Amino acid sequence: MITRTEAQAMDQADKLAHKVREFSLPKGVIYLDGNSLGVLPLAAVERVKHAVEIEWGRDLITSWNKHGWFELPRKAGNKIARLIGAAPDSVVVADSISVNLFKVLSAAVAKRPGRKIILSDSGNFPSDLYVAQGLASFMADGHELRVVEPEAVMDAITEDVAVVMITETDYRSARRHNMKEITAQAHEKGCLMIWDLAHSAGAVPGQLMDVNADFAIGCTYKYLNGGPGSPAFVFVHPRLQNEVLPALVGWWGHAKPFAFGQQFEAAEGITRMQCGTQPMLSMQALDAALDVWADVDMNELYAKAQAMCALFTELAEQRCGANGISLFGGRDFSTRGSHVCLKHEQSYAIMQALISRGVIGDFRAPDLMRFGFAPLYNSFVDVWDAVEHLAQVLDGKLWDTAEFRERKAVT
Ligand SMILES: *Cc1c(COP(=O)(O)O)cnc(C)c1O
Repeated sequence: MITRTEAQAMDQADKLAHKVREFSLPKGVIYLDGNSLGVLPLAAVERVKHAVEIEWGRDLITSWNKHGWFELPRKAGNKIARLIGAAPDSVVVADSISVNLFKVLSAAVAKRPGRKIILSDSGNFPSDLYVAQGLASFMADGHELRVVEPEAVMDAITEDVAVVMITETDYRSARRHNMKEITAQAHEKGCLMIWDLAHSAGAVPGQLMDVNADFAIGCTYKYLNGGPGSPAFVFVHPRLQNEVLPALVGWWGHAKPFAFGQQFEAAEGITRMQCGTQPMLSMQALDAALDVWADVDMNELYAKAQAMCALFTELAEQRCGANGISLFGGRDFSTRGSHVCLKHEQSYAIMQALISRGVIGDFRAPDLMRFGFAPLYNSFVDVWDAVEHLAQVLDGKLWDTAEFRERKAVT
């Protein structure tokens, strides 16, 4: 079994270890939930202070020009582009994933008028399925969402499918779909391809241009550390940008927003995927958070993510296997994202007991404990210590109290 001293040696050899100094991590906390809400970057504190006191407080409305507020969604989009393998000017920051999915889905189905099927899989995040159901029922012309098992996606891509809508990294099992294969199959059958990168952006190397994806969406409050509710991103391949139009358009996507004409006229390029005014304080926090990534090599980052997931799994199985813990998902970490789910009947109460000890992960129904590993601020010693806490909680049945069993609104 790997010892704590060996984990320390892994940290000493880690080229990303210094990045933790760019974050504000509370003392005594092992934070393994960066896949749900990333840690506060120090640069964001300064930026938001400036945005509130100087930009909003002093310069008021002149800040739209003076402090570049109006261009910020595209500027931040370009910082994200490198991380997700997108071309310059093919990403814009706006709204939430759910709203952006509605935009790209509506734009995509409109390009395939003879086809009525939106294809997704049962491992997808439920909100994505809800958005597709909502759009299909609104269209009321026979469009429907078809959901298949993740392993059946390739065979289900047929010539009646208008759009294939898949999340790369499963939010529970962390299984990554093969983006290249699925996108090629979608194109072969004449379908458009939408990728959701929620648990991929900032965790795995980007491939959007390499795989020739048509559309992508993703959020910025997970691994990108943009802050609670920070706006999401949307990607449209440059070859399609001027060919598609979302059902949700607004003045920020108009060619001449300040002409205030009565007729919608789409802006060129990715700008048309914007709709209305964006939350500028949040956008500023995100823009500062993205600067932390400027010197990060995504392959190096992913190598560390895989090593952390492997270490956690190995230690958890060795220390806790006898206590009813099992791995949910496979163990080939080169085909997985940056989190690990463990299964146990009492996962909810166990996670509450861990949180009370400062080890923060989350619970995913019905019986999973999820631990996210963010290579920018988590260390191998964090991983080692987290398993030690887990073992103590299980060995002593410390989770077995009324307080830890009581369900909270957000799990
Ligand atoms: C986190 C997540 C979302 C969240 O959507 P919002 O609209 O930003 O709340 C959507 N899809 C996936 C796959 C996610 O993991």
